[in-house]
Amino acid sequence: MKIGVLALQGAVAEHIRSLEAAGAEAVAVKRVEQLEELEGLVIPGGESTTIGKLMRQYGFIDAVRAFAGQGKPLFGTCAGLIVLAEEIEGQEDAHLRLMDMTVARNAFGRQRESFETDLDVKGINEPIRAVFIRAPLIKKVGKDVDVLSTYKDEIVTARQGHLLAASYHPELTDDYRLHAYFVDMVKEAAASKA
Ligand code: GLN
Repeated sequence: MKIGVLALQGAVAEHIRSLEAAGAEAVAVKRVEQLEELEGLVIPGGESTTIGKLMRQYGFIDAVRAFAGQGKPLFGTCAGLIVLAEEIEGQEDAHLRLMDMTVARNAFGRQRESFETDLDVKGINEPIRAVFIRAPLIKKVGKDVDVLSTYKDEIVTARQGHLLAASYHPELTDDYRLHAYFVDMVKEAAASKA
């Protein structure tokens, strides 16, 4: 079970560590050709404008759309969630436009640029530890999107079939249960194709 972490910018090594802790083999992805050997892909946090720009430059927009089109799971965290979204508030252009949701960037304001909290997530037994850093929020979701968690009534984790998105950084804690949840999604997708 080989899962890639898009390594153009952002928190790559931490995701690799968490995926490995969750039992997967994980690799940093820098070239589109690497996607062929992968069963799932994580798009990390960082700066979404930069990640989007580099994805365009290296041909990742079409390649990742095709990857998802084969039913292979994607997991976007923080900036990666923004990259997955159909729409970004206040911006004309979005990036992958794969998940039917509208997101707002830096949605917690300057007072609360970063904080940690325990979060109930549908499908995971006990609350997980979540680190928010200049985090986005999911403002609106389409009918195929399942809301997995909210923080103060705002959506912070969502799933649409084989696409998973979190506003925060699950890779910055030793709690790798959300990665384990994603690894299970990848296993299921791979099994349904076999
Ligand atoms: N604020 C960043 C953005 O809008 C995301 C922050 C993060 O990934 N920690 O792209």
